[in-house]
Amino acid sequence: MARIKEIIDLIEGGVTREEAELLKKAYDFAEKAHAGQKRMSGEPYFIHPFETAKILAGLGMDTQTIVAGLLHDVLEDTSIKEEEIQKNFGNDILFLIKGVTKLGTLKYRGHERHVESLRKFFVAMANDLRVVIIKFADRLHNLRTLEFIPENKRRRIALESIEIYAPLASRLGMGKLKGELEDAAFSYAYPKEYKEIEEILKEKKELFKKYLTEVNVKLKKELEKNKIKFVEIDYRIKHKYSLYKKLLRYNMDIEKIYDVVALRVVVDTIEECYRVLGLVHSLWNPLPGRIKDYIAIPKPNGYRSIHTTVFTGLGGVAEIQIRTKEMHAEAAYGVAAHFAYKEAGNKKNKNDKNKFKWINELKELKYSHDDDPKNFIDHLKMDFFSNRIFIFTPKGDVVDLPEDSNPIDFAYSIHSDIGDHIFGAKINGKMSQIFTKLKNGDIVEIITKKDSKPSGKWLEYIKTSVAKKHIRSYLEKNSLLSKLKSFGQS
Ligand code: MN
Repeated sequence: MARIKEIIDLIEGGVTREEAELLKKAYDFAEKAHAGQKRMSGEPYFIHPFETAKILAGLGMDTQTIVAGLLHDVLEDTSIKEEEIQKNFGNDILFLIKGVTKLGTLKYRGHERHVESLRKFFVAMANDLRVVIIKFADRLHNLRTLEFIPENKRRRIALESIEIYAPLASRLGMGKLKGELEDAAFSYAYPKEYKEIEEILKEKKELFKKYLTEVNVKLKKELEKNKIKFVEIDYRIKHKYSLYKKLLRYNMDIEKIYDVVALRVVVDTIEECYRVLGLVHSLWNPLPGRIKDYIAIPKPNGYRSIHTTVFTGLGGVAEIQIRTKEMHAEAAYGVAAHFAYKEAGNKKNKNDKNKFKWINELKELKYSHDDDPKNFIDHLKMDFFSNRIFIFTPKGDVVDLPEDSNPIDFAYSIHSDIGDHIFGAKINGKMSQIFTKLKNGDIVEIITKKDSKPSGKWLEYIKTSVAKKHIRSYLEKNSLLSKLKSFGQS
């Protein structure tokens, strides 16, 4: 039973005696339940839930989630009944396992299958995010053992991971998991391209590291001189799939990609982040237009950090990323960080609620079988997978919207009442048409009038499904009302 220790060792901050006992009980229970079953690789089946639980422990998930990871295939693949799990592990853990099982029993084919998996994901996510995180860990281990799966299935699983799982992980701020899912799937989804990227990396990695080593040595000295304590200075090498995607955007020209390898500086406070930035720019000239302050304006998924690219001399450029310890954990673990740092208490919970407001909005997105599934996917892609822009209220609140959104979208994202009564909009202080496409960073003031009302024409111009939903429902209610009125008159 020494192997349960492998899981416990991965849990930062250790576990209480009760937690250790619960983990051991789940380990024994799952191992017994799967006894005699084999994976495609020929290994005992239990290896899979065990590795899944290890991934969850590594993500900093709570004990309940790790226990559910150990037990996640018990309902589906063994004769164990729900009552037995409830009796031994309680309702919460049973709920998680049932959630994962439901996500896994999709037997759709083709496009419908894709849509249906997405929809189930969103429903599960809105109920308990941990279900989706267990599913991510389950998928990651399956990807790592994909070589044992029949070839015709491999590519489908790999593509599904890249197209559904990874964007979701990214949207949840789980950058580490996203990168790992994509890299594990990459070679099966796009074998030729994967080889190309490996070649490029082999060639360029050393060169970039050389530039960064100079920077690293000099920067450390300078930090000490200025009495800035750093927690960590380390290299990060860009994930292969994300490098591939970036190269596609730059005509496969590696010379245009500056962050193949980046230097990551982790400090204690936000103030120190800016001091480090100042120091870096006093030592090396920054490339214009490459300073990105995601601390002042975080990415939509919550990512915070300062990025800058500098000329290191000798013709080299290097990207430097500066962030606090907390940001560093959040960038890697996203929502999972919320489960990991429970002691941060209520304040953090509240933030997360706002940060992941869009998950609740998803609940309102209805999908019925009469709808064309393609429309549903288009909506989701539109809202959650496309590029986002940041729009500011005059008070400085930030709203993130899909690209090409207009003031109507903005108004509805603030409140349906404001959307329903929008009359005009001031963009950066200038009166503008309500159909004007907004640009990243615009400051928008919505002007409402009591007797303004939505028109069907708006539907052609808006980008968000929230606006679409409200306009449609307004129009429906209204045509019903006018019908009733004319009934009354006649
Ligand atoms: Mn599984």
